[in-house]
Amino acid sequence: MTNRPDRHDPRTLSELSLAVHGGNQLDSTKALRTPLVMANSYELPADPSDISWSATTGGLYTRNTGVNQSALQDKLAALDNGEDAVALASGVAALHAVFFTHVRVGDHVVVSDVTYEATWRLWTELLPRRYGIEATFVDITDHAAVRAAMRPETALVCIEAIANPTNKVADVAAIAAIAHAAGAILMVDSTYTPPPFYRPLDDGADLVVHSLTKYINGHGDAMGGAVIGSHALIEPIKADAMVDVGGVISPFNAWQIQRGSVTLPLRLRQHLASAQRIAEYLDQDPRVAFVAYPGLPSHPDHALATRQFGGRGFGAMIAFAVDGDPDIQNRFVANLALITSGFSLGHDDSLIVHTGVEGGRVASYPEQFRTLGHLRLSVGIEDTDDLIRDLAAALDETFGPIQSQTE
Ligand SMILES: *Cc1c(COP(=O)(O)O)cnc(C)c1O
Repeated sequence: MTNRPDRHDPRTLSELSLAVHGGNQLDSTKALRTPLVMANSYELPADPSDISWSATTGGLYTRNTGVNQSALQDKLAALDNGEDAVALASGVAALHAVFFTHVRVGDHVVVSDVTYEATWRLWTELLPRRYGIEATFVDITDHAAVRAAMRPETALVCIEAIANPTNKVADVAAIAAIAHAAGAILMVDSTYTPPPFYRPLDDGADLVVHSLTKYINGHGDAMGGAVIGSHALIEPIKADAMVDVGGVISPFNAWQIQRGSVTLPLRLRQHLASAQRIAEYLDQDPRVAFVAYPGLPSHPDHALATRQFGGRGFGAMIAFAVDGDPDIQNRFVANLALITSGFSLGHDDSLIVHTGVEGGRVASYPEQFRTLGHLRLSVGIEDTDDLIRDLAAALDETFGPIQSQTE
């Protein structure tokens, strides 16, 4: 009976069961859900005089780890096959926590040239200007270029498994091998590729970062971030970035995100299946100028994505543009009635955002993004046919119906 599933032992649980039971911390109240503990402080032992105020254990003070943060951390570590996890106030706090903790003055980092806006700004402006830490931006699909960018003092390589918003796919195992050969660690921002869809640690990544704000909470009503990895790499992040810099997540958000994540595997099935169909729909429409989605055979990283994601899907983020200038892109978005114009992604509701061609990081985007701008569509969990009908109606309203060839 050793393989018997036990809700108290995450190692015995398959993915749907783990999403339900992982991290649940039950206490003497016998409540069947981790209670929400908003207390800032916990009663100390009789002699607290030798307790470190920077300790990362629970039972002291909420910035050092409260009941709800600890429950969420246990769950996130189990979902991503990591030893340990730290939950922080936002995805960006998690990214900064990795950089702050694991990169020092005199170190060098290698960063994907199509990386998330805040990562871009941290490594083009904030960290180089404040601390003189040099970053080299590379096209991470060019492995020779990644290898050539590595230096003896390179401490960290920083990529996204599927990049926001270009949908470029990184070969995580290959880049992990390059980083490790040069004595660096690999951090993968896996916000676009949450578990159980993908687990970068299984492919050799050292640290995984998530914006919990996105798929993991999934309901568009709580911000959070997390880093997952070995105990040896996570513990210093807790001590430095959580306790002593104060990037801690609030108990309420941790509780909310733990609840949201219960349905993560189920939601992902719908997100992934729907995105594939919608990308195919957009791709065949002559009024659509381009579609960048790794699930389309025309995508340059389609073969890599098929292998790396094991046929489970290709993400649920589609970048595309309709045929026309920025005003027409805006008009198309305004004509949508189910899909909403809004920042963020990975929520239950579908969101779209029009991004123009200005801005530092756009210079390294694929050509279509640089000439037309793009619409970033986060495919939600509404009915797929409803979403396609909304896109079709907005295309008709913007351009007029497609002329039938037979008429
Ligand atoms: C949203 C996002 C972040 C930042 O997360 P916040 O929770 O908004 O701070 C980081 N990386 C990627 C890829 C994201 O999409």
